[in-house]
Amino acid sequence: MQLHNALRQMFFLLVMSIVMGLAVNLVHADPLPVIADWSTENSVENVLIISIDALHPKALGPKTSTNIHALMDKGAYTLTGRSTSPPLTLLSHTAMFTGLTPNESGKTDNGWQPGQSRVKAETLFNTGKSLGFSTGFFYSKEKLGFLVNGAIDRHKLSNGFSVEQAMEFFKNPEKNFCFLHISGLDQAGPTEGWMSPGYMEELFYIDESIAPLIKMIENKGKYLIILTSDHAGHGNVHGSDHPDDSLLPLVLSSDIIPLKTYQDMKYDVTQLKSIIETALR
Ligand SMILES: [Zn+2]
Repeated sequence: MQLHNALRQMFFLLVMSIVMGLAVNLVHADPLPVIADWSTENSVENVLIISIDALHPKALGPKTSTNIHALMDKGAYTLTGRSTSPPLTLLSHTAMFTGLTPNESGKTDNGWQPGQSRVKAETLFNTGKSLGFSTGFFYSKEKLGFLVNGAIDRHKLSNGFSVEQAMEFFKNPEKNFCFLHISGLDQAGPTEGWMSPGYMEELFYIDESIAPLIKMIENKGKYLIILTSDHAGHGNVHGSDHPDDSLLPLVLSSDIIPLKTYQDMKYDVTQLKSIIETALR
């Protein structure tokens, strides 16, 4: 009986010491600081990357490409970006996606067909996915299927225009991350010549066509829009070591990310992935 009482007493003392300890802690604890959740409030929710295939930066201007020019005015840009060596479509896009040169990624040929092995390195879509974005890749050349990996929720090859698919994708109320590849200049260049009237007409048409998509993203807000290209060309030629062939523009626009440091930056196509990672983190 005495042992039983002693145990009860010990238990009582133990419980009391815990209660008193908590009470003392509650009285003396400093109030938790109120930390504004900047990471959520000021983070990008809509990422749109547009690659206009074969766009020569010197073709851009307030009359030839009004809507792209408006993006340049609002944001930051460089018109002296450099492509891969050699400056070819799949090599350059692989560099954009992975941040690796052709030698580093091992993708040194410019071809791919369905059934062949796809990109192995992590891409900018892995970054987007890890940050909680829904991801979409819409492209207009079959060989870019090489870049489709498991981090892409929705992807579609359209031989025609893929702007509509991107607009459909952005109806998703979640955080969206989209890469849109647009063809047209890569046909006008070799057939009619880079900077020819036919080439400039095609650019005017592309610029008009992407306007509703840009407007949609700007209206959604908390956006980062990047417009770039894979390479340029000269005469009817591209992919050579002529300096024009390697040129490409980089245009960035955002309503919440400061972009001034990117103005006239020295840009190489392998830097796209890290620029996006820096902007989103
Ligand atoms: Zn190309």
